[in-house]
Amino acid sequence: MSNSVDWGQPFDNRDGKIWFDGKLIEWNDSKIHILNHGLHYGSCVFEGIRIYNGKAFKLTEHNQRLIKSAEHLGMKVPFTVEQLNQACVEACAARDVKDGYIRPLAWRGSEQMAVLANKSTIHVAVAAWGWPAYFGNEALEKGLKLTFSDWKRPSPETAPTSAKAAGLYMICTLTKNKCVADGYDDAIMLDYRGYVAEATGANFFMIINGEIHTPIADCFLNGITRQTVIELAKKNGYKVHERHIDVEDLAMAQEAFLTGTAAEVTPIGSIKGKHGNFEFKVGDMTKKLMADYSALVRN
Ligand code: PMP
Repeated sequence: MSNSVDWGQPFDNRDGKIWFDGKLIEWNDSKIHILNHGLHYGSCVFEGIRIYNGKAFKLTEHNQRLIKSAEHLGMKVPFTVEQLNQACVEACAARDVKDGYIRPLAWRGSEQMAVLANKSTIHVAVAAWGWPAYFGNEALEKGLKLTFSDWKRPSPETAPTSAKAAGLYMICTLTKNKCVADGYDDAIMLDYRGYVAEATGANFFMIINGEIHTPIADCFLNGITRQTVIELAKKNGYKVHERHIDVEDLAMAQEAFLTGTAAEVTPIGSIKGKHGNFEFKVGDMTKKLMADYSALVRN
């Protein structure tokens, strides 16, 4: 279960270096002032990238998304995609991370301490560390135990929903803390219209009679893993339906799974809670996509 992942040392006390505004500095010295726009007003975007056998998967796509996410918040990242890619390579090399997780982030600095941020500078850092299976190995065999969130993904008219922006995770952390306290691995969030959206940090798929169904990513992150798995599914000749999914439609599915950089492809065993109880098996199609994804990221 995700709450049993051993995080090891606290994240502000580790060995090695972090790439910070263009150069590598000591991990424990990579600090920002508390009067910082990113912290107070959510002016922060980030990425999560996995590195396998020394090769970061879809590095360019992730760094392109970082720049796009920043643009959604009116922030111009002062580095090119190529420079960000190089920063990720350096951050991994500096700590000898060959299998792990890379976290680039961009935030507004401390020039202004009010809502207005028209003169704020933009800062960028990249850290890398080792990270095992997000939900633990048991979930990969038995499937996740999910519930439903009390929170809904907002409309694109309410928040910049296609950005991977720190502020959008407020409702994810509230959801995750509650569901873990209640004994679940994670929770499915509905969107502002009541359609099935995604989990707190991963996209949702289900399989009905051999065909794949996944929500249209029109108010949440169109995950890079989501797009990859859709391609893999189509290569296998599986039919993929991107559509609005009502909660009741979950009852028609035999299999379901989550996708994400951290989550990879993780099967769902059940979703139980305020919108009903749904059970799924870890079936052949899910297993095939898990294997295909695993082979692709490591090739
Ligand atoms: N939705 C949310 C809220 C996420 O945090 C993530 C993880 N980045 C995803 C979906 C999946 O995105 P990706 O496959 O690009 O990691």
